[in-house]
Amino acid sequence: MDCLFCKIIARSIPATIVAEDDHCLAFRDINPQAPTHILVIPKEHVPSLNEMTDPALAGRVLAFARDLAVKEGIADRGYRVVINTNAEAGQTMFHLHAHLLGGREQGWPPG
Ligand code: 5GP
Ligand code: ZN
Repeated sequence: MDCLFCKIIARSIPATIVAEDDHCLAFRDINPQAPTHILVIPKEHVPSLNEMTDPALAGRVLAFARDLAVKEGIADRGYRVVINTNAEAGQTMFHLHAHLLGGREQGWPPG
């Protein structure tokens, strides 16, 4: 499997893993854009939201990100969960992932 995020799931390349359950893995982004910047991924390889067929998968990723926001102490202040999909949105890693961003003021609309 030539997917970097699948390799992180398999522990064949290192990452700062912060949480895991049967369906999801969360690890810190290598190039953080906020004091908290965590990537939440399904353990199942799905390239992007466009290929996601089971809506329960998206629900699990979202709830996992929400629980991490609580653990990171940013749930009350505010945080953002972002899924970039394909080129114009800036997706660079083609294993579905949600960015959990928080710990600073965030502008709207996003760039
Ligand atoms: P995208 O632009 O696809 O939404 O986000 C991909 C994210 O993956 C980027 O924020 C990038 O910094 C992060 N990333 C890319 N390679 C690695 C890596 O090897 N390890 C970790 N922890 N994050 C990575
Ligand atoms: Zn993958």
